[in-house]
Amino acid sequence: MGDRTNHNENSEGPVKKFDTKLIHFGSEVDSTTGASSVPIYQASTFHHHDIFNPPIHDYSRSGNPTRQALEDYIAVLEGGVRGFAFSSGMSAISSTFMMLSAGDHIIVTEDVYGGTYRLLTTILSRMGIESTFVDMTQVEQVKAALKPNTKAVYMETPSNPTLKITDIAEIAAWCQQNDLLSIVDNTFMTPYYQRPIELGVDIVLHSATKFLGGHSDVLAGLAVVRTEELGNRLKYMQNGLGTVLGAQDSWLLIRGMKTLSARMAHSEISSRKLADWLSTRHDIEAVFYPGLPNHPGREVHEKQSTGYGAVVSFDVGSGERAKRVLNEVKLPLVAVSLGAVESILSYPAMMSHASMPKEVRSERGITDGLLRFSVGLEDIDDLIADLEQALENN
Ligand SMILES: *Cc1c(COP(=O)(O)O)cnc(C)c1O
Repeated sequence: MGDRTNHNENSEGPVKKFDTKLIHFGSEVDSTTGASSVPIYQASTFHHHDIFNPPIHDYSRSGNPTRQALEDYIAVLEGGVRGFAFSSGMSAISSTFMMLSAGDHIIVTEDVYGGTYRLLTTILSRMGIESTFVDMTQVEQVKAALKPNTKAVYMETPSNPTLKITDIAEIAAWCQQNDLLSIVDNTFMTPYYQRPIELGVDIVLHSATKFLGGHSDVLAGLAVVRTEELGNRLKYMQNGLGTVLGAQDSWLLIRGMKTLSARMAHSEISSRKLADWLSTRHDIEAVFYPGLPNHPGREVHEKQSTGYGAVVSFDVGSGERAKRVLNEVKLPLVAVSLGAVESILSYPAMMSHASMPKEVRSERGITDGLLRFSVGLEDIDDLIADLEQALENN
């Protein structure tokens, strides 16, 4: 061990901290020309100069240098061995599930992203892949759902939109004992705040459309795996299904990711202020934010993450009031999505979770009065004043 540490220090310098890795990730300077950004290799195929010695990349579905730079970048940030870039978050998620086969069973967090719920319950179910939804704040429920054909556990923490917390390390360890694949959708935290692979997880997934891209201008998904073996299996899916991200979008995502720390840190300070302010109001039924002292799971969250993120959900009392507030706010984008420079206010019951039946929604705390605020980079005093006028008039 001692030798290895010395070797690393000699060849690569001291281990870099996260903010430094975000800027100096390996491909930040083009090795051929010295250009200050990764070139966009807008090519579908690559010439074989020597047929006996094929180029590293021969066809862009199988490999593209711009996409490769992005894939290496996310692998460095998440601390995994290999990264993959997909055409959307759902494309990363579905390609990962394709590693399973008919007859397999997955245990899934009950308030999983609406699109993932739809994929599992209406598409994968048709292909003989079965899923059980459990409240993952209760590790016992996860254990009780184990069947002889269970192959994977799928976590999302904090979950969307009620920000429930799952103990990643505990479930990952249980998965290892039971020979199950552990998967985390890390979209809400990003590797800036939470690195599931370091907690023992096998595969980390992202909708990079959100915080990683950060500018509401690119749709993308990313995955990172803990072992070479998993890397080979996921590569086979990505190439076989053709769910790759294009070169232009890969470049745009790299550009967005460079400012991840600065954006997350700013938005988190604002989010805490917003959550505190909402908590003092008597016309708000409930506030969900992992940084609030009374948030269930706060302790577990603090054990596995270095921050609370930039999504605050709150219940304004009724669906009618929620709709009026959405009509009255002037600053946030009223839209699906989150994790951008501009604040985004969304209405889970009619937007992200519309594909979930109403009974299932209310069981999972996604009430008709629930709004989800993704805090952007505006001045927080302005955001609060804007929300205040929308609430007071309604
Ligand atoms: C948006 C989102 C997804 C889906 O990602 P797309 O890029 O929209 O396909 C998956 N998981 C979470 C937590 C999300 O917020």
